[in-house]
Amino acid sequence: MRILISGGGVAGLTLAYWLHHRGFTPVVVERSPEGQVGGYGIDFFGTGYDIAERMGLVQRLEQGRIPADSVAFVNEAGRVRARLERRLVEEVVEGPSLPVMHGTLEQALAGTVNGNVEIRHQQTITEVRQSDDGVAVTFADGREEDFDLLIGADGVHSATRRLVFGPERDYARHLGYHLACFPLPDDHELGPTRFHYTSQGRQVVVYRTDRPGEMIALFLYKARDEGVIPRAARLARLRKEFAGMGWITPRLLDGAPADASIFMDSMTQIVMPGWHHGRVALVGDACGCMTLVSAQGVSMAMGGAYLLAKALHRHLGDHRAAFAEYERRMLPEVAHRQRNARAVARTLIPSTRLGTSTQNLVMRLLARKVFAPVLRRRFGAGSILAAG
Ligand SMILES: Cc1cc2nc3c(=O)[nH]c(=O)nc-3n(C[C@H](O)[C@H](O)[C@H](O)COP(=O)(O)OP(=O)(O)OC[C@H]3O[C@@H](n4cnc5c(N)ncnc54)[C@H](O)[C@@H]3O)c2cc1C
Repeated sequence: MRILISGGGVAGLTLAYWLHHRGFTPVVVERSPEGQVGGYGIDFFGTGYDIAERMGLVQRLEQGRIPADSVAFVNEAGRVRARLERRLVEEVVEGPSLPVMHGTLEQALAGTVNGNVEIRHQQTITEVRQSDDGVAVTFADGREEDFDLLIGADGVHSATRRLVFGPERDYARHLGYHLACFPLPDDHELGPTRFHYTSQGRQVVVYRTDRPGEMIALFLYKARDEGVIPRAARLARLRKEFAGMGWITPRLLDGAPADASIFMDSMTQIVMPGWHHGRVALVGDACGCMTLVSAQGVSMAMGGAYLLAKALHRHLGDHRAAFAEYERRMLPEVAHRQRNARAVARTLIPSTRLGTSTQNLVMRLLARKVFAPVLRRRFGAGSILAAG
């Protein structure tokens, strides 16, 4: 059975691996050129870690571990007001956690399918026509090809979703923030600590990457949804939004890459009542983006991919039953985490000094081990595969 996967990110590559493993013939089309790395740091635990273990990837990922022993909340002078140790995360998730760069994970996943799965880079789909027998797809270069099934793993702004399920606005739920990030030389001697600095509806986060001498600066600010901000306008927008911020903020903006290779997006969830239509299904952020606030997007992307391949194998020849089973198992897990993420987003970045002080106090309380079970229940951070 030939299955086209649109999107060779975390969900798409995990799906390709497990489909190949179970005897299917996946083909991946990925918009980006081959070998792009970097991006941003992700906290990787629970379901994602569980699946990485099943794919034999943990050792490889350990080699790319980001130095991250604690999270420190600092004021405009850089004085630490609260600190969360990494140990707490491991208490909450009741297992190991592994901070890595998103690109490191993608590279490791690509290594698991290398030579076994056809991956076509710099390619996208532009048209989808379904029939009883299959899915006819037109690619951006005009070529047409038939597949048995099509899976959209093309992220929060999924083209598959737009072509088959309708426009993004029908499913987008903006959480009230914009975010941006870029890599720059670490001239600030950050060490193994991730720093958060919050002021009046804005937050700057910095941490080292796995490359010596490199760090990431992440900027979050309250804003209505403006859609895509053109690349050429991104740095100017950040300078405007973060004007007057203390600590190292001006130096971070001065160090921004001149080529405007700045990742920028609105913080938007994708909430859908159903994830499949005929011979097409969605996986990962394409159908269930939770945003960075949940810190579980990678886990749900990998978990969804794993369970989708498993369901297709169990219901061989009956994609309807397979898609229904996958959705029954995954959708409630994602919906639960989306609700939690929305609750967190409401108080993520206080707009006043008093709000920020209160937040630091709450962080100091949460740092106590006694709160780990509360956080675990609230965020559902354990592996969803624990039950089999
Ligand atoms: C700043 C930031 C921090 C985050 N931190 C965490 C964290 O700590 N923990 C966590 O679990 N999650 C985190 N996330 C979320 C996590 O990155 C996503 O949930 C996860 O990457 C989803 O995987 P995906 O494969 O569904 O989508 P993506 O990783 O977005 O992959 C989609 C792929 O599809 C490709 N694509 C897009 N459009 C097309 C097209 N038309 N045709 C072909 N290919 C296409 C893209 O190039 C990409 O390779 C964070 C996200 C951000 C932005």
